[in-house]
Amino acid sequence: MDFDEIYEKIKTAATLEIKYQYINFDGRKMNFSKFMISILKEVLNKINRVEKPAINELIVLFESYHLDSVGSRKYTIEKTLEVFARLRKLIKPKNQRDEKEKTEFKEEIEDIDVSFVKGVGPVVAKLFNKIGIFKVKDLIEYYPKKYIEYSFQNKIKDLKLGEQVTIFGNIYKVTHFTTRSKLTVLTVTIKDSTGFLPINFFIKTTNRKLIEHYKKEYPLNSFVMVIGKVKFDDYNSRITLDKAQIQVIGTNTDVELSKNTIVPVYSLCEGLNPKTLTNAINNAISKFQDKIYDPIPAPILNKLKYTGKKSAISLIHNPNSMEEVQMARSRLVFEEFFSMQLNLAILRNEVSKSDSIKLEIKKGGLADKFINGLPFKLTSAQNRALAEIFKDLNSTTPMQRLLQGDVGSGKTVVACAMLLCAIENGYQGAIMAPTEILASQHFKNFSAWLTPLGISVGLFTGKNGAKLKKELCANLKNGQIHVAVGTHALIQEGIEFNNLGAIVIDEQHRFGVKQRNALLNKGKMPQMLNMTATPIPRTLALTLPGDLEVSVIDELPANRKPIITTLGSNLERKKAYELIKREIFFKHQAYIVYPLIEESETLSAKAATIEAQKLQEGEFAQYRIGLLHGKMTSDEKEKVMEDFKNQKFDILVSTTVVEVGVDNPNATVIVIENAERFGLSQLHQLRGRVGRSELQSYCALITQSASAEVRNKLNIMTKTNNGFIISQKDLELRGPGEFLGTRQSGLPDFKIGDIVEDAEILELARKEAIEFISNNNIEDYPLLKKEAESYNLFRG
Ligand code: ADP
Ligand code: MG
Repeated sequence: MDFDEIYEKIKTAATLEIKYQYINFDGRKMNFSKFMISILKEVLNKINRVEKPAINELIVLFESYHLDSVGSRKYTIEKTLEVFARLRKLIKPKNQRDEKEKTEFKEEIEDIDVSFVKGVGPVVAKLFNKIGIFKVKDLIEYYPKKYIEYSFQNKIKDLKLGEQVTIFGNIYKVTHFTTRSKLTVLTVTIKDSTGFLPINFFIKTTNRKLIEHYKKEYPLNSFVMVIGKVKFDDYNSRITLDKAQIQVIGTNTDVELSKNTIVPVYSLCEGLNPKTLTNAINNAISKFQDKIYDPIPAPILNKLKYTGKKSAISLIHNPNSMEEVQMARSRLVFEEFFSMQLNLAILRNEVSKSDSIKLEIKKGGLADKFINGLPFKLTSAQNRALAEIFKDLNSTTPMQRLLQGDVGSGKTVVACAMLLCAIENGYQGAIMAPTEILASQHFKNFSAWLTPLGISVGLFTGKNGAKLKKELCANLKNGQIHVAVGTHALIQEGIEFNNLGAIVIDEQHRFGVKQRNALLNKGKMPQMLNMTATPIPRTLALTLPGDLEVSVIDELPANRKPIITTLGSNLERKKAYELIKREIFFKHQAYIVYPLIEESETLSAKAATIEAQKLQEGEFAQYRIGLLHGKMTSDEKEKVMEDFKNQKFDILVSTTVVEVGVDNPNATVIVIENAERFGLSQLHQLRGRVGRSELQSYCALITQSASAEVRNKLNIMTKTNNGFIISQKDLELRGPGEFLGTRQSGLPDFKIGDIVEDAEILELARKEAIEFISNNNIEDYPLLKKEAESYNLFRG
């Protein structure tokens, strides 16, 4: 008898006794008081020590019950019911206890080690770790990378000679023998519900180990898809497949016999059998199903008509149709994007709660003076961006703006005007660039623009000598330097500002969040503008932190002509060289770029050096050629750039160091060798070295590749000069990781979502996340908060 049953019995007996008006009624075996004493003694064994005195007291009362007055009997019964009502609350109800026994684990699935799943021993656990599965949750959320549908399968007993067929079945046995001519014949026998089919593979080896290795590729019982053409095997006088391919797709022996027509395929690692993985996943789902909670609030699920998490998880791993896959998938993608967007929204809320420096914008002030003194008029896109920036500066809310402008669109003047606002208000400004060439180019521009206005500029790079560094640091600290231009050197320890008020990060995607924050921390909440010349496609921008608002300079200065781009091999190079000569005749200049051929700066520097020499001795013997590569010191690089700008060379031969931001408006031709080795965005950047003035410019892409894929990719360059179109294509072709090129970029790894293909869900998730955060307190949704916080990892 458990406690609940005892309680029921006591209640029933007491109710009867009350009904009979306390007569100590006779039951079948004994009277009421004796029955109560016996049952109370049983209770003593089931409760803990502190409760025992109360029960003993009741026993004493019932021992004198048969002698008591009606009043005392009434008291005893009331007291008993009271004690039991209290005890009952202390002891957990039966069903709750049972549930706890079922799951056994107090922790949640994100804390329970995967080795607690049935079928996951130490060896398998190690393999799981290799593919990023550590906890039960990782396993359950290890989603299939694709599915194989086998509704169009052929059955072994119906095979017809000469037919191209697809068979699904299980590996029944794998045998081998070695012929006298040292050829090993491996026979894999496939079984489906209708028969057996042997398939032979011929391997030129007698090495036992190697043969065993081949055999391991066909684990017994594993479920496979076999493709091939039916033929008659004369040697064995039976039917087999010619040029057969066997793909192991999983899982358990009965898959083929079940009604399933879809089999999930997972990414595996060497040594990991698909069957082991799917079994573990299914074991984990059934064992821990009570711990699969849904982080998405029910109203959102209802509104968007998404299924619950538990059913989505079970469908994604065991679907009956592709519609089910679609349904489960879009819900899980939404969950991922929604959590990530919540994280961004929380982050933004935090940032905008803190106070930043507010800068007054004066009409006719420094910024206006600077702009009016330029030899050109700002484009309307530049003006619009500046107005947006000024509005941000004129508020205590920290600026969270990304300035995107295609190469040559004139971001530098916008940045300079922004920094002038800080100076006007008595603060210092800083601009950080990813390379020394770029930093020193900014330094030259800023010095030329700002010295006439009485503003001093300092250049901070890694190559500053100790003495210069000391002097610069002192002047930065005492406020004599108004604008600091530099590389990463700016965020070194020991660099202190007097009162930093505004920051520009040039080519922001080349910096990590940490580095940007390090510069922010050099002041007391300065305003910060991020800039990029690699237009970031909208979906990608939506997944990056900190850049809520985007200003776009989508217009080139009016005098620009679209760059004419051509694509070809040797003949194209010949034409391009003729073009270079013609342009040099008109006193213009050219770039010839050689990519990193080997994955080493040294080797590619060597390659560029040799090419430069060849050109100087051959094709361009009468011309002046300069050389730029990554192995030169920064002084050397800078001198070459300076000389090129001052037209001391006609042609600059370069590795890709010339890619970022280098500005020589007089250059009109760029020849890019081995163009197939570059991503589209990088090509666009390189091409942007020309076309930086009113002069007609040209870009020749040279490739020896005959691949249609390569040609199609490169052809995009010949069709458009629009950086946004190009970067979108680049993102589609290479994927987000490659596109951003750095893990520091703050882009999370998604388990199932694809920001290119699932762009629509991303937009939806973003909208829902923003709405959710503005109407709810995330603290009320601990599960959701936890999911959102898992994305903190990517915030550097
Ligand atoms: P990017 O956006 O690629 O950094 P820059 O700021 O280096 O471009 O500008 C490219 C060139 O165009 C520079 O030589 C710059 O002086 C010039 N420039 C900038 N704005 C204008 C304009 N509105 N009209 C004409 N030339 C401009
Ligand atoms: Mg630039």
